[in-house]
Amino acid sequence: MREFSVPELLSNYISELKAHRKTIGFVPTMGALHEGHLSLIRKSKEENDLTVVSIFVNPLQFNNEGDLSKYPRTMESDKNILEKSDVDILFAPSENDMYPLKPSISVDFGSMANVLEGKFREGHFAGVGVVVGKLLHITSPDRAYFGLKDLQQFLLIKKLSTDLNFPVKVIGVDTVRDENGLALSSRNARLTSEGLLIASSIYAGLKKAENKIKEKASIESIQSSITNFYKSISGLDMEYFELVDANNLQPITTYDELDELAICVAGYVDGIRLIDNLYLRLK
Ligand code: AMP
Repeated sequence: MREFSVPELLSNYISELKAHRKTIGFVPTMGALHEGHLSLIRKSKEENDLTVVSIFVNPLQFNNEGDLSKYPRTMESDKNILEKSDVDILFAPSENDMYPLKPSISVDFGSMANVLEGKFREGHFAGVGVVVGKLLHITSPDRAYFGLKDLQQFLLIKKLSTDLNFPVKVIGVDTVRDENGLALSSRNARLTSEGLLIASSIYAGLKKAENKIKEKASIESIQSSITNFYKSISGLDMEYFELVDANNLQPITTYDELDELAICVAGYVDGIRLIDNLYLRLK
C-alpha cells in the first residue's frame, strides 16, 4: 500500500496511473475502520483497477469541540486493516495538509441540507461539502463510494457532483449492521456493553415503522407510536424520528403517491450521537 499525506503528491501519482488508463475507486473515511467501511472498499476493489482510501477527521464538519476531540483515532490498526484488504493507496493528510489556509468557501446545499442532520448539526454539511469537494479534486476518481447509513450525506454528495460537474460516479452502499441490527459506526467503539444493547433498539424502531407502513398505517400514527417506543427505552434519548420522501428528504404527510420513502432517526446513547435509516421502495 502506498501512503500519501501531501495532496499534490497524491494527485501527481494518480495522474500517472490515469495516463496508463487505470480506473480509480475512492472511499473517503474518518478512520476507526469497521466492516461498514470494508464493504465500501470491497465494492471499490470489484469495480476499479485501484482503490484509494482517505482517513481524515474533518474539523470543518464538527459543530461540537467535544465530539471532535473524542472522535476515535486508530491510525496504526486502520493501516493494518487496509493492508490486509489490499487497498492500493492510503491518503492520510494532516489538518495542515488539507487546510494550510482556513477555507473561506462553504457549500450551501439548500433545502435538502436544512432537514434531519442539517437541522440538528449546524454547519455540518457545509463542512462535508468542502472536504469532499477537495478530496474529489485531489483523487480525481472514476467512482466514489458512500454509505447509505448516512443517507442525507450520500444524496448531498450526489448533488455536489451533478451541480458542479465532478466527473465521478457517486455510488451508495447498503448499511452493514451487527447481529442485533445496530448500524456499524466508528462511534460505537465508545459505547458501553449496555449501551450497545440499548442502541440496537434504534433499528428495532425502524423495523416497527416499516411493518406499520406495510399495514398502511397513517404517518401520524407511525410517528406517535414509534416516538413512544423510543421514549420507552431507558438510556436512549431520541433527537428526531422522521418519515421523508427519499428523493428530497422533505417530511411527508402521506405516502400514497410516493415511490421511495426513508425512515430516519437520530439519538443519543451514553452521550454518543447515533443515526440510522431505512430506505423503502414503495412501488
Ligand atoms: P465515516 O468514517 O463514518 O465518515 O464513514 C465513511 C464512509 O463509510 C461513509 O460513506 C459512511 O456512510 C460509510 N459507512 C459508515 N458506517 C457504515 C455502515 N455501517 N455501513 C455502510 N457504510 C458505512
